[in-house]
Amino acid sequence: MNIDSDLSPVPSSPASGGRPARLAARLEDLQVANSYAELPPAFHTFLPPQPLKAPRLLHANEEVAAMLGLDPSALGAPEFLEVVSGQRPLPGGRTLAAVYSGHQFGIWAGQLGDGRAHLLGEVLTPHGPLELQLKGSGRTPYSRMGDGRAVLRSSVREYLASEAMAGLGIPTTRALALVVSDEPVYRETVETAAIVTRVSPSFVRFGSFEHWAGKPEPLQTLTDYVIDRHFPALREVASGEPAGTQQAVLRMLREVVRRTARMVADWQTVGFCHGVMNTDNMSILGLTIDYGPYGFMDRFQANHVCNHSDTHGRYAWNVQPAVAHWNLYRLGSVFLALGIEEDALRDALSGYQEDFLIAYHDNLRRKFGLEVWRAEDEELVDAWWRLLHEQRADFTLAFRLLADVEREPRCFLDLFSEPESARAWLDRYARRLKGQTLAEPDRRAAMNAVNPLYVLRNHLAQEAIEAAAKGDVGEIEALLTVLRNPFEAREGFEYYAQAAPEWAERLEVSCSS
Ligand code: AMP
Ligand code: MG
Repeated sequence: MNIDSDLSPVPSSPASGGRPARLAARLEDLQVANSYAELPPAFHTFLPPQPLKAPRLLHANEEVAAMLGLDPSALGAPEFLEVVSGQRPLPGGRTLAAVYSGHQFGIWAGQLGDGRAHLLGEVLTPHGPLELQLKGSGRTPYSRMGDGRAVLRSSVREYLASEAMAGLGIPTTRALALVVSDEPVYRETVETAAIVTRVSPSFVRFGSFEHWAGKPEPLQTLTDYVIDRHFPALREVASGEPAGTQQAVLRMLREVVRRTARMVADWQTVGFCHGVMNTDNMSILGLTIDYGPYGFMDRFQANHVCNHSDTHGRYAWNVQPAVAHWNLYRLGSVFLALGIEEDALRDALSGYQEDFLIAYHDNLRRKFGLEVWRAEDEELVDAWWRLLHEQRADFTLAFRLLADVEREPRCFLDLFSEPESARAWLDRYARRLKGQTLAEPDRRAAMNAVNPLYVLRNHLAQEAIEAAAKGDVGEIEALLTVLRNPFEAREGFEYYAQAAPEWAERLEVSCSS
């Protein structure tokens, strides 16, 4: 059996075929289930959200609505706003906050959980169930010292980032709606409250498993739930006999390793820094989740730290792959409680490095327009990273303009303060391309199809936030337009493809959200 092709896929955008035949005109018409609510009581707390006062729908995502089987007209209905602002439950849904634990910045943090999120239920779609979750919807038993709220600033950033990642083809949770209210939220300054409705096949995290470390019974319950729901093919083996319990767990772990490795390889090759790779922010489905102080790099710096709260650089860009492996070890060690041999767990975890390198090299191969990846290409790539790092060249534009370097070397060379070393690298690259059969225009087209022109640069998000704070969603709209198809140059949107202005370097994003 080919495990890869048999696994139920994570739904992507409707453009790739996720759209049901007929769209429901109202939320009431959707088919809703509550599988997470059916887990034993220790897994969650049933409670309603604390609705925001006088909420306004700032933005609703028609693309994600279509994935749910919802007609765009439904997004304008009063009941839609009532649901996404926490005023009333999803019709047919049982609202709850889930418990989980986790390692934060390398240290066991104990119990965490949905401290400001409410799971509304799951919508059954032709491509599998999709859960709806409010974030910023009030206190829960897992709020600890927090106020249960999210500010507009971080909510706009989450809304945009999940759509940007989807546009790049990187596995991610999605965002359906963004609601704002005049209710004050107290952070370093007084800010505005907001709620994002997130959509995902599952919000289960590594930390959901870590919560049951040493407790075989609930751990097995959660594991069975995740396998049955998301990885049913892992129960089968070639003979047609069902896999043994431990075998299925090991196969699940192996699959999580594979997905996580691929996700991080995708992050690395678009210059994405997550910012808070705690184990409670790692999705069991290998989706990018919990957008906080993330960042797409502007000028490349290998040890770039996007989160100003991360003073030791634990989650710098160049250590993300190793951190993901460390996090997988935290997940894997939990299964010792199920009586699984340490060696077998270690085996499942040890595939990570190869999985990562295969995905990483394949991404790079395509980004550089190479027909095949050769071992010696590693040196070419190392020299590339060194060149970009030394000259702090723009990550996104360096890759993008490389496609056109034979016709227009000037644009590419202008990215470098010392173009001589860039020219030397280009000579090396030209020698590498010589042996290929791919014609230059075809290579250019292939490279432009994988090297984005537009990414969600910090300053662009900031401008969208400032406009949104004044009630203007025009910038959010414009960004969504380019980020949904970030590979296609659009007339009139040149501004969004430019390198960051100098003031962007002074922007600070932190854990405060
Ligand atoms: P994060 O670093 O955002 O992934 O959050 C870590 C934990 O803190 C999670 O359990 C969150 O639910 C919780 N949390 C973060 N911010 C708040 C808040 N304002 N109110 C309540 N809980 C929060
Ligand atoms: Mg989190």
